[in-house]
This record gives sequence, structure tokens and C-alpha cells, in this order.
Amino acid sequence: MNPLRIAIVGYGSAGQAAAVQLGEDGHAVTVFERVPRPGPVGAGFLLQPSGLQVLWKMGLLEPVLRHGARVERLFGDTPCGRAVMDMRYAGLDRRLYGVGLQRGALFSILDAAWRGRGHGLRAGCEIVEVDHAHGLLRDAEGETHGPFDLVVVADGAASRLRAQVAPPRVDAPYPWGALWCLLPAGDWAFAHELRQRYVAARRMVGLLPVGGCPGDPTPRLSFFWSLRTDAFEDWEVQGLAPWREELDRLWPEAAAVFAGITAAPQLARARYRDTIMRRWHCGRTVLVGDAAHAMSPQLGQGVNMALMDAQALARALREGGTLEAALQAYQRERRAHVWIYQLWSRWLTPLFQSDRDAVARLRDAGMLPLGRMPGGRGQMLRVLPGTRRGLFGTLALEPAFVEALARGAELPAGAGLQLQQASP
Ligand SMILES: Cc1cc2nc3c(=O)[nH]c(=O)nc-3n(C[C@H](O)[C@H](O)[C@H](O)COP(=O)(O)OP(=O)(O)OC[C@H]3O[C@@H](n4cnc5c(N)ncnc54)[C@H](O)[C@@H]3O)c2cc1C
Repeated sequence: MNPLRIAIVGYGSAGQAAAVQLGEDGHAVTVFERVPRPGPVGAGFLLQPSGLQVLWKMGLLEPVLRHGARVERLFGDTPCGRAVMDMRYAGLDRRLYGVGLQRGALFSILDAAWRGRGHGLRAGCEIVEVDHAHGLLRDAEGETHGPFDLVVVADGAASRLRAQVAPPRVDAPYPWGALWCLLPAGDWAFAHELRQRYVAARRMVGLLPVGGCPGDPTPRLSFFWSLRTDAFEDWEVQGLAPWREELDRLWPEAAAVFAGITAAPQLARARYRDTIMRRWHCGRTVLVGDAAHAMSPQLGQGVNMALMDAQALARALREGGTLEAALQAYQRERRAHVWIYQLWSRWLTPLFQSDRDAVARLRDAGMLPLGRMPGGRGQMLRVLPGTRRGLFGTLALEPAFVEALARGAELPAGAGLQLQQASP
């Protein structure tokens, strides 16, 4: 397809990855981001092999591995020491692992990789309306931008633009969310494991190693505490002391790490949504990332999906034909991958975040034995790296990528990439 004038709304992981890849393909990219000084928000996340493969293709695996922490195992137990979840990537392929990464690190890596950033980023510009027939955008100040040949809507889970593309089939906030922050890892013993602790489904605490960040190599852990969103205010009013006592009681082995939490404002509040769209595109507009398929982070797939969306969209446009055909091909490919994760996420999240004690008891008794049954382990493990496709299919990882991951790093196109601190 000839070079297009493309607008991207939102400079989160999906918008950033789309800007880099569409810019590399020769399209003229303009990004509209509502935040005046775009930067990372939140703590960290787990990149799965599916998302790492996209970064590898973009030539960015090396800086990701340099800053992130290798995660080999996901383990969760109760305070009395009963293991509930225990999964190792090596159970699937000994060369595979996930990478815990600070949001700031991924933001800086993608930001540095977008060559058009200097002239293409319109920060502090909130888009409130999309005219998908003509490719026009209207911002909160009433100014009109465009026309564009294509508008990529990447405005995240709470997207206000998705409903202008198509009526969602499901679009509901989840009653539970999380408090989260980064804490220095110190001498935390589980440097290569995501660790979680559960009390029924009412309490869930997690620690994920996420490595360092450009400009700050201190290894950190991403901490999260599950909480009903309608309890966020009460939690703050009650003050830190009783909550810190509860935390130390639930997970005494991690008390030294929790000592890094000294004030409530350190903790960001995360809210989740479940969104299933009937269509991912309309006219000249297309959805990517959480705007297309928000889900709870229980399966740790959101950023990976966002990266894969951006890659699939760039590929569909590269393959030629009409814009409509390219957007249909993109929607077909990504939906075939995402739907099973939406289903799993909707089933699994209440097992870990809800008031349903009976369900949590079943989880505690059944999840580990189920995972050990012939067939069960393989099924669960194939969901984890983000490569499950449909009920029984698998997205193949490229052998060269798996080798690169096994070697720990390589320096393809991204070699020599200079990472700078984000500045608008
Ligand atoms: C607690 C928590 C833990 C998570 N853990 C993981 C994990 O381990 N692994 C994983 O893969 N995923 C994880 N996720 C999910 C992941 O964070 C999201 O799926 C991912 O960030 C989605 O990226 P996005 O670019 O679609 O949206 P976002 O990152 O939300 O970016 C949207 C951008 O659009 C901008 N914007 C919004 N509206 C407008 C507008 N009207 N005009 C202009 N700009 C606008 C916003 O300012 C923002 O910059 C987690 C999420 C949470 C909340």
C-alpha cells in the first residue's frame, strides 16, 4: 500500500509500537496524546514470549533484556504455605522465559525507537471525536485535525473513542482493581519468579521482578495489592499502618521489601475493564490495544497483545489491497488470537479477585492438581506465553527468535540505540 497519512490517538504501549512500525514502513505518522508530558504511568509488567517476539522483530530485544528481569516461574501460595499455582516456562520449552520490565523502561525503549517523534508527537492534545468517514479528529479545544487516510485509536482500556467506531458487545468495569508501585528489590530471594500470595479471592499480593530503567539501574519489584475499587477511598482514609501490619502478617518473608512502602501516594490505583468489540474498525478508523480488547491483567497479556496488534496492523497494510481489506485482515488475525484470552480472563479473574470464598476454595484445592494432570499442564502452559490460538491451536514462535531469547540477547536492527530519558 502507498504511504498513508496516519493519526494515532494515544501514546501508550499500543500507540508507541504502532508509531514505530508504521513509521518504519514509510507512513507519515502523527500521534495525539492527551498528557502534556507523556511518560510511563504505573509500575511494571510481564512480557511474554509472544510480545518479546514482536520486540525482537523491531530490533528491540537487546535493550529490553538489558533492562528487564528474566522471569522463569510463576508461583502463588497461601499464608500457610499451600501452593496454588506453579508454572515454569521451561515446562513448555527450556529456552523460553518471560521478562519483567518497568513501564518506564518500555516507554523509553519505544520512544527512542520512533524516528518521527521529533515532529510527529502532539502532546497535551485530547481527542474527543473521530469522523471515520473522512479521517478527521476533533480535540477537546474544538480544533479539527486531518484529514488522515487512517486513524489508529489506541486510547487504552477506558477509551472514549471506541464506541464511536462500533457499539461494544461487552464494555464493563470490573469491580476489583489493584494498588501498585515499584519497590527496590534489595536481597529478595526470588529474582526470577513472579510470586503471589492469596487469602481466598479477597486478598492477593504480588511481587514481580522488573529490573532497572534507563538512568536508574536499581533492580526493582513491581508490587500489587488487589482491592475492590469501591474500597480505594476507605483504604486511604484508614491510613497506612493497619494495612502494612496486615501485609507483613500475610507475607512475613517479604517484610523487608514492604518496608519500602512509606506513604499512600506511592501506590497508583488500577481499574480494569472487560471489553469485547463487535467490530475493530469502521471507515478509516481502527482500534488497537486495550481500546480493542481491555481485560483484567490476571493472565499478564495486555501489553503483549498491544505489541502484536501493532505488528499485525503494519503487516496488513504492507500486504496491499484496499484499506478496507487490510483492516479486515487485521481484525481477522487479531480476533482469532485474542478471543480465547478474553474468555480465560473472564473465567479466571473471579478465582483470584472476588468475594466468592467457595470458588477460591475450589481454586486452592484444584488448580495445582489440575495443572499436573496429563494434558492439563500443557494446556495451562500454552496460555501463559501468549501463544494460544483458539481452543487447541498454537501460534508458532520463530526458531530464530527462540534462539535469540535462549542466547539472552542479540544486537540486530536496534543495535546502538541510544536510550534517553523521556521528554516531550
Ligand atoms: C495492575 C495492572 C497490571 C498489568 N500487568 C500486565 C502484565 O503483567 N503484562 C501485560 O502484558 N499487561 C499487563 N497489564 C495490562 C497493560 O498495562 C495494558 O494492556 C496495556 O498498557 C495497554 O496498552 P494501551 O496502549 O492499549 O493503553 P494505555 O497504556 O492505557 O495507553 C493509552 C494512552 O492513550 C492516552 N489517551 C487516552 N485517551 C486519549 C484521548 N482521548 N486523546 C489522546 N490520548 C488519549 C492515554 O493518556 C495513554 O497514554 C496490566 C495492567 C494493570 C492495570
